[in-house]
Parts: sequence; structure tokens; C-alpha cells
Amino acid sequence: VSVFYRPLEKIAAVIETYPRGIAGFRRFQELLATDPEIADAPDAVDAPALRGDIRFDNVGFGYEQGRPILTGIDLSIRAGETVAFVGPSGAGKTTLLALLPRFYEPAEGRITIDGLALPQMRLNSLRRQIGLVSQDVFLFGGTLRENIAYGRLEASEDDIRHAAAQAQLTSLIAALPQGLDTLVGERGVMLSGGQKQRVAIARAFLKNPPILILDEATSALDSQTEREIQSALDALSVGRTTLVIAHRLGTIRNADRIVVMAEGRIVEIGSHAELTALNGIYAGLAA
Ligand code: ATP
Repeated sequence: VSVFYRPLEKIAAVIETYPRGIAGFRRFQELLATDPEIADAPDAVDAPALRGDIRFDNVGFGYEQGRPILTGIDLSIRAGETVAFVGPSGAGKTTLLALLPRFYEPAEGRITIDGLALPQMRLNSLRRQIGLVSQDVFLFGGTLRENIAYGRLEASEDDIRHAAAQAQLTSLIAALPQGLDTLVGERGVMLSGGQKQRVAIARAFLKNPPILILDEATSALDSQTEREIQSALDALSVGRTTLVIAHRLGTIRNADRIVVMAEGRIVEIGSHAELTALNGIYAGLAA
């Protein structure tokens, strides 16, 4: 299951009932801004520009009473670091990273960014600074331009074209009948999985957040597409704290550190070389 599908699924049902285009899109932004489950504390403040030092302090979480999914998570991530999360399906990787934009609240412990506890910051000001690139990209019925500018209605034409180029979308745009004005999604041109991922990458470039969460696709892409996406993602993660749910060996080896999870706990942390030398669970997985 991928990181951001679950919460998006909730809002996707609502969005369809609104008129398409910019008007509908503004409504969507308002909905995102007023998550009914997680509200701003009365004394919450707008987050300052974050550097992206992240700390999980004895964090515990479960979706249901009596069934813990995460237990005793302690983890410090330095600003600018790239950390790969690995482990068997159901280990809790997705759940752990979904706590950062506060899709859910920990039952125990706390999470801080630059020393600020998440609930101290207004939700909008926090989420503005976290980019999400997931394998289930959410495209709404609208133009490619609107889909790239998602969340940044004030973006200029130059900004949008630049982000599209950084995400390696230029040749697709050139090939589409109306370029950036082409309708995409179910009533328009259907994009392939690799093209949708590039739209998600372009969104993230445009948003320019200090913190990035990547849910690496498990689906197979042809090797040319995969190389292009990988190089766009590598460029995107430069200078940002990057947390990636990793499925590819290349990503894992290139990460500054690897966090190995099993049954809701962190069982090993280190670089590829360190974990290989440890000859433990990671060494077994990578073999
Ligand atoms: P995968 O690699 O398959 O995505 P994961 O390590 O990311 O696995 P999670 O998706 O975080 O693991 O799931 C951890 C556990 O939480 C699983 O047992 C899963 O069934 C459960 N779970 C996930 N989402 C929910 C939810 N919305 N409600 C209840 N249980 C959930």
C-alpha cells in the first residue's frame, strides 16, 4: 500500500462532486486545508522556513486500539540527509512516514522538525514544506498545466515550464496536441504510470519543499523511463531532507543511511557498507 493513497482516497470522492477546472480545484485546496480529523491547536503558529532536521522520539502508533503498528521509534535525521526505509510489507514504513505531514497523530512520543513539535505548527504551514511523490499519483480532471501547478495557483508560466523540464516532461508536452493546455485524466489524455510519476516530480520541483517523502514505485517501468525518473528524483532530492520508501537496490545503496524496519520497530540503521558488515537482517535482504 502506498503512502498517500489512503488520505487522498478520502478527498478524491469529494472532489469529483465539484465542477472541474480552477473553481473545483480551489475547493479541493480548501478541503485539504480543513482536515476534519486533525485540527490546529489554538496556540499553533505558522512554521518558520524549515531546514529539515527531523526527530522521532519514542514514537508509538496504531490504527486501532490494542493493535500497535509502530513501537518505540527513535530516529534522528539531519537536514539534507537521504534516508531509505526498507523492510517487509506491513513493517510500518508507510505508516511512519505518514505521521510526518500529520495524516495521523502518534499515540505516544513526539516528532519534531528543527526542534519544533509537529502540533506546534499550523498544519498548512507544515504541509507546505513537505513534498510527496508517491506511486499512486493523483491527477484530477483538468489540464496538464493545472495538474503540475497543483497547490501553487500563483505559479508563473516560466516556473511551470522549468519544473516540467526538471521532471523530464518537455518531450511529452511537445508531443501533446495542446501542450500544457491538454486535458488529462479520465476525460482527457490518459498518461502512463511513468508520465504520471513525472507530473508528481514536477509538482514537487514547483513546490520546492525542504523535506521530501518518496514512495518508490514497485511497478516495473521500461529501463529508459526508469533511468529518466531516477535522474529526475536524484536532482529533486539535492539539498532536501529526503525520506524514501525504497524498493530499488540502487536507491538503497545511494542513501546516506538505511533504516530497516520489521513489525513496527527499527531493527537496524546504518549505511549500506555498515549494514553489510553487520551481517544481520539487511545483509540477508540484500544478498
Ligand atoms: P508496504 O511495503 O506493503 O507498503 P509498509 O511497511 O509500508 O508495507 P504499512 O503500510 O505502514 O506497512 O502497514 C503497517 C500495518 O498497518 C499493516 O499491518 C497494515 O495492514 C496496517 N494498516 C495500514 N493502513 C491502515 C489503515 N488505514 N487502517 C488499519 N490498518 C492499517
